Amino acid sequence: MEFSLIERIRQRTAQGREDVRVGIGDDAAVLSMPAGQEQIAAIDTMVEGVHFPVGTAPADIGWKALAVNLSDLAAMGASPAWALLALTMPQADADFVDGFAEGFAQLAQPYRLALIGGDTTRGALTISVAVHGFAPPGKALTRDAACVGDAVFVTGTLGDAAAGLHCLQQRLPESAHSSYLIERLNRPTPRIAAGIALRDAAHACIDVSDGLLADLGHICHASGVGAEIDAALLPQSSALLSLYDDATARDFALSGGDDYELCFTVPATRVAEVSADLARLGCGATRIGRIVAGEGVRVRGAQGQWLETLSSGWEHFSA
Ligand code: ADP
Ligand code: MG
Repeated sequence: MEFSLIERIRQRTAQGREDVRVGIGDDAAVLSMPAGQEQIAAIDTMVEGVHFPVGTAPADIGWKALAVNLSDLAAMGASPAWALLALTMPQADADFVDGFAEGFAQLAQPYRLALIGGDTTRGALTISVAVHGFAPPGKALTRDAACVGDAVFVTGTLGDAAAGLHCLQQRLPESAHSSYLIERLNRPTPRIAAGIALRDAAHACIDVSDGLLADLGHICHASGVGAEIDAALLPQSSALLSLYDDATARDFALSGGDDYELCFTVPATRVAEVSADLARLGCGATRIGRIVAGEGVRVRGAQGQWLETLSSGWEHFSA
């Protein structure tokens, strides 16, 4: 595709990192690995109308395409370094590319994440971003390390993005609350600093992309354990609670996707330390339950009864 489009992207995402020996412009990038680190890599694809609503602003698409990937690095406790971008769009659209690159760069800049290459093709609007980051050897967080007795935590608040999507789809009247929720959908905050802070203290970690029940379920499955969570402890924003009744808000928090918060488990001895660390980082973390022997995730309602959880979250190809 047009050289000028790639050049527009390159100019807007320049970072000047010393570990990028050859960046955008050659057949492939040449990168030097920092000594004594492991490399952590992830890729995610977003398709218009599937992963973001038709009509989403280009800058929001650029932000989110990177954010969902940085969230995967955060869940591993990695610090971000490099990204590759495969951009497919219906026509060469400089305005779209400028907006997209601006949103992408806004999120990339504070991490000094460098865009080191990619591919630009014609077709239905589809964006793949691959990211690479580092962590000290053996320190990356995984899903399979939860232990019976661990406390289960989540960062931030849950259910906002699903509610934001609902606001858009139902064309709810604009308000400060609906704007907040839609912003949470379009501009998720990857919890990079939290992931790094958790390297030493947390056992298992995952990011909440498909919904808490589904993603905590992945931790349980991989770790060979079960989890019990208390619905009353789910962290929920005042915007969510203002616009929706308690049952709807709870369902969004349990099963709604796209929040990109971290869900992690911590041994009892480290709970106070982890809570204090994450409070200091600003995102906060809430203890919502515990890891138990067995399998699957059970949710206790306000009266102590076990809830029937019908949907365990957004599953691709399920309907
Ligand atoms: P090639 O034909 O050798 O694969 P391309 O013409 O696809 O090269 O790309 C030229 C250069 O621009 C390469 O360095 C490639 O990594 C980079 N590039 C292409 N598209 C993008 C993009 N969307 N974002 C970032 N870099 C890109
Ligand atoms: Mg080539």
